[in-house]
Amino acid sequence: MRIGLYPGTFDPITLGHLDIIERACLLVDRLVIGVAINRSKGPLFDLEERVGMVTAETAALTARTGCEIVVHPFENLLINCAHEVGASIIVRGLRAVADFEYEYQMVGMNRALDSSIETVFLMAEARYQPIASKLVKEIARLGGDVSKFVTPDVKARLEGKYGG
Ligand code: ADP
Repeated sequence: MRIGLYPGTFDPITLGHLDIIERACLLVDRLVIGVAINRSKGPLFDLEERVGMVTAETAALTARTGCEIVVHPFENLLINCAHEVGASIIVRGLRAVADFEYEYQMVGMNRALDSSIETVFLMAEARYQPIASKLVKEIARLGGDVSKFVTPDVKARLEGKYGG
């Protein structure tokens, strides 16, 4: 059984994340979506809200791809989280060159911590590549239309936060 771990903040989950999740589902038997507590990032949505959105948005995927999806909040070291859930693969999405530097370091350091866990990078479909949670929040905050970036439910949650 091949288990993958896709970690992130998912504040909130976007169509970019969902595209990566669906691609990862084709590579593993079980995909654990690790929702990081990430207090340092000062998330807009609390952990419970983020886990709720990720769970709701990925609910239909198992039927479509045959991959089991588990949503797992975590606060510890990524490698420890991977051990905890039995993952042999860490999945990350790559957007632009800007992501590369950070991800490159992460792979190197995670590999030093445990060389048996492989990091796999996936690219979203072109139209989803520029999407970043941070910019989606900024657009929603300023009253812009985010329907090209998130699902209708997530859009409604953003409007709830910003009084749109
Ligand atoms: P983190 O705090 O770990 O960066 P994010 O929720 O921002 O958490 O992102 C989680 C993962 O999803 C990261 O690997 C990120 O590069 C990837 N990702 C986010 N948005 C996109 C996108 N539009 N296309 C491809 N990968 C993405």
